[in-house]
Amino acid sequence: MRMNLEQIRDALGAVGTLGGADMTVPSGVQTDSRCVRDGELFFCISGERFDGHTFAAEVLEKGACAVVAERPPFSMDEMQDRQDRPVLIVPDTVAALGRLALHHRMGASAVVTGITGTAGKTTVKELLAHVLSVRGATARNHLNRNNQIGLPLSMLAATGDERFWVMEAGISQAADMDELGSVLRPDLAVVLNVGQGHLSGLGDKGVAHYKARLLKHIARGGVGLVSADYPDLLAEARKNCGELRLFSAVDPAVPYFCEYAGPAGEGRGLYRVRLESREFETEAPFRGAYGAENVIAVAAAAHILGLTSAEIAEGLRTAELPQQRFNCRRYGRWLVIDDTYNANPLSAGRMVESTAENACGEPVVFVMGEMLELGEAAAQAHTELGRALGRACPAAVFWKGGHGGHVQEGLHAEGWNGPFVPVADAGAFLRAFGALGIASGTVLFKGSRSNRLETFAEAFCSAV
Ligand code: ATP
Ligand code: MG
Repeated sequence: MRMNLEQIRDALGAVGTLGGADMTVPSGVQTDSRCVRDGELFFCISGERFDGHTFAAEVLEKGACAVVAERPPFSMDEMQDRQDRPVLIVPDTVAALGRLALHHRMGASAVVTGITGTAGKTTVKELLAHVLSVRGATARNHLNRNNQIGLPLSMLAATGDERFWVMEAGISQAADMDELGSVLRPDLAVVLNVGQGHLSGLGDKGVAHYKARLLKHIARGGVGLVSADYPDLLAEARKNCGELRLFSAVDPAVPYFCEYAGPAGEGRGLYRVRLESREFETEAPFRGAYGAENVIAVAAAAHILGLTSAEIAEGLRTAELPQQRFNCRRYGRWLVIDDTYNANPLSAGRMVESTAENACGEPVVFVMGEMLELGEAAAQAHTELGRALGRACPAAVFWKGGHGGHVQEGLHAEGWNGPFVPVADAGAFLRAFGALGIASGTVLFKGSRSNRLETFAEAFCSAV
């Protein structure tokens, strides 16, 4: 960011005193009072647990150059003492943060890619940013910061002089995509897939409707890149976007196509890619058919952004996955897949299939947790997951959280009657696992974030 406080006040339509700091250029933007550094602009945001306004005085003491707030954050007495401290008042600090990020984006020279979908956004974001970085500096969201606070903060952390920005947008409520899209205004908007996810917060128009809204916000002259493998997504995409390109991991007739060609070492896969008339093979840091969707999304996006096939293949070959996404490691006689970051029906079903597909006849153990935010679809989604688990013929299934009964229904429907063990914590899991006496194989850990199945994976890895 290169704007001074006076310019920021104008851009935000804010009122307030700048106390002589009009020309000060903030060193950055912050919303977490614990992390404020000298010279940063602090946005007071009211969250579920904390209200940023209560930290206004503290962050100014710590060296923040100004605060943006929805109401005067000090008492009248304090205001008297702090006349030299700039406070900008806006009606809504989250909207103001987005507005500042949009302002920054419109002045940036970077080509901006936005990514959304039900599963694999962070994976594709990280891989694409890695691939593109061979051509020049590439900014991306920090970790999984993809909501109305995290996305603008990620954008504002970039200088704007980078060659590329790659940003994921995650939604859980009906209005979210319009809010995120209008802040990001992507030159290239990628919709990776659609499946059940955040159903309890989204309206009744269907997930595809809300995901495809990103395309509505493409910058002038920009392009939409969408999977052709989900008919409802394709229909919604056509409503929202003029210049649409398609990719597929199913239909070879689609111009951008990829298929899985087999394992390429532990936790890695070989993929055959076709970008219009050009074909090549590449390795990627995951295995199984589900990964073809991520590979082709990355390859097609990089191709549209001007990279060569050789650059794309090399970038995918050297990319690594973020923590807790298909992190595959061998511990003694066990191949451990830590996929504990999150789960929804799409990602859980595909990961179960891929684990079974690559087990090479060795025993497979699933350590899974409840999938959250599914509203009325929860019972059926868990029964479906049970069916997928049953088809994989595991040596055992461990389950944390609710809907275990529905999972069992699905398992039985597939004729599987092996050990199904509900476990509340890592200790109980380890004891139950030991009692089964399975000596080797593959174990997959996966569940929604709040199950904290990474604690189970850590305990397992230290015990075997
Ligand atoms: P979030 O909504 O939590 O931000 P995300 O969309 O960013 O999730 P990732 O964090 O990239 O998704 O991946 C989460 C999990 O989804 C992975 O660990 C993997 O199990 C699964 N996954 C990754 N890619 C796909 C895909 N193309 N299809 C289905 N599942 C996938
Ligand atoms: Mg993510």
